[in-house]
Amino acid sequence: MRVFSASSRDFSDPAVMKSDRIRVPFRTLITARARGFASAAQWLIARALPSQCALCGNLSQALLCGGCDAQYWNEPRLRCATCALPLAASVMRREREDLRVHCAACLESPPAFNDTLALADYRAPLDTLAVELKFRARLAAGEAFARHLHALFEGCNLPVPDVIVPTPLSRARLTARGYNQAWAIARPLARMMRVHSDASMVARVRHTSAQSRLDRETRRRNVASAFAVSGDVRGKHIGVVDDVMTSGATLDALARTLKLSGARRVTNFVALRTPND
Ligand SMILES: [Zn+2]
Ligand SMILES: [Zn+2]
Repeated sequence: MRVFSASSRDFSDPAVMKSDRIRVPFRTLITARARGFASAAQWLIARALPSQCALCGNLSQALLCGGCDAQYWNEPRLRCATCALPLAASVMRREREDLRVHCAACLESPPAFNDTLALADYRAPLDTLAVELKFRARLAAGEAFARHLHALFEGCNLPVPDVIVPTPLSRARLTARGYNQAWAIARPLARMMRVHSDASMVARVRHTSAQSRLDRETRRRNVASAFAVSGDVRGKHIGVVDDVMTSGATLDALARTLKLSGARRVTNFVALRTPND
């Protein structure tokens, strides 16, 4: 059963409004402000009354109840160190001593990014949180993704990025949605990591068609010139945050653009990873 708590449309959250204010039309802002007052009341109600777990519907003041929180996060899967694709159990047995294992695709044709951290596969039940974040502005899911990505990063031996950026949306999509769901993860993650975050360092200059129906090579061509860098990334290690990584073509194109602009290293932080193309 899908249950949405009273705080599921928290448009008053500064992670959304502050970063995207300059790009959101006036009418949208007024609507969001009105919703902000409504959600302030909802915030009080949510804390005065019991709320429900986003996954199982049990009573819970937090986004997830204790049982779901313990059960679904940080699934013990060995992933490709570069693209976070889940690796077969045979690889796990053969190379379990080496934590930096790679999938065949990354060995054959390495992408432009250096590393990818992913929390879990994109599938039920955690895909519900990604949908809630992306289409219903449930920003608590962004915070939860950030908290778990931070814990995952703390357990790795990876260098700390100089700056954290969200995978940008095109202007049209940002206007339509009113917020960037990747920024809702990137901002709290940067705060937890004590790293500077910047939502305007990279822009999406070309809107690309839906990726899921395209083959790998077409996806690569499709996003090849989708991004533009406006900040100074020379010599920097950039942490790129996204909610869902599907083929990796978008993040590859973004990392390629960053490196062509002088970035030294790119690490992806993605909440959920689609297991196969
Ligand atoms: Zn639950
Ligand atoms: Zn890989």
